[in-house]
Amino acid sequence: MKKVLLHTCTVVMDRWVVQSRRLGALVALTVIALMASPAKAAEPVDLPGLMEAFGWDFDSAVVRAEKVSEGLYLLFGIGGNVAVSIGSQGTLIVDDQFPEIMPKLEKAITNLGGGDVDFALNTHWHFDHAQGNLALGPKGTWIVAHETSRDMMMGNHNVNLVALNYDQKAYPAAALPSITFTDEMQFHFNGQRIELLHFGPAHTTGDTAVYFEGSNAVHLGDVFNRGYPFIDADNGGDLDGMISFCRAVHQRINKDTKVMPGHGDISDREGLLHYIKMLQTVRDRIAVMVVAGASFTEVQATSPTAEFDDEFGDPAMFVDRAYTSLKKKHEAARNAASAVAKAAAEAAAHQAATLKAGGEPK
Ligand SMILES: [Zn+2]
Repeated sequence: MKKVLLHTCTVVMDRWVVQSRRLGALVALTVIALMASPAKAAEPVDLPGLMEAFGWDFDSAVVRAEKVSEGLYLLFGIGGNVAVSIGSQGTLIVDDQFPEIMPKLEKAITNLGGGDVDFALNTHWHFDHAQGNLALGPKGTWIVAHETSRDMMMGNHNVNLVALNYDQKAYPAAALPSITFTDEMQFHFNGQRIELLHFGPAHTTGDTAVYFEGSNAVHLGDVFNRGYPFIDADNGGDLDGMISFCRAVHQRINKDTKVMPGHGDISDREGLLHYIKMLQTVRDRIAVMVVAGASFTEVQATSPTAEFDDEFGDPAMFVDRAYTSLKKKHEAARNAASAVAKAAAEAAAHQAATLKAGGEPK
């Protein structure tokens, strides 16, 4: 049986290769469920369960810093990549991982010359990118996110990673963004313009790309990853939207732009374009089969990602979520079309009845 990697929005690929061994039993069980139905997930796990499944250990975790440009860094720890802007006006970060690793993140920021975090921008509401709000909010950090992400943080939501799923609990008021935006917003901070951009549902319904214009660097959160992406299809995530979101960012940047993914190493515009082409290719293949009425098992059997697997890793979760996303969209379109047809038929019947009764058609 092919090994299923639980690559998620939370996981860096190389970490997974190790962790998937530890997950052997769980994976063996869940892969059977996977074969039967794309939407069926295992029982929800709590944070300790998640930590164990992913092989995460906050105590032994090491936070590594990489310089992106003068005053801009990317921190790698446990969870989504954290961009850090340090300058004369203070410290601004993009994403904040978990409260448990915050002391190590803060130490890394101090080592880079930064201070208390003035602003924390969340690329989206998922736990591995925004849970650090629980540590920063009460300390007075201004938290900023797309308004939909704030809405999601206010409620309980299940994140269906297919082979594993997590119930993300509502955040307390102190951990919620105080500042939100809808389409775009600008910061003027540490000597540069920082653009917050939203292009509709993609990885989630509240994604933000953060473009540091002066540094010529952009952080895309989980809309862009260095392995197959996770599409949170059960919460409105959309494969077509992910492609158009990436295309919109691609148009804004140039060949020298540093492109920071939600997980994995820094890339560039060419890397982003390569990723977009992969998404588009797989999307087109699955969409044709969805329209033809193929089941998930039938789609999976065609290995729609085959030529990309060496580079992007195990496709199980991606194919599952891509299929679910496209099927939902197809069914919604079909329902809308049949509603229009039904309304037209009713109008025609009404007209015929009116004529029969000797009235004027309306
Ligand atoms: Zn995510």
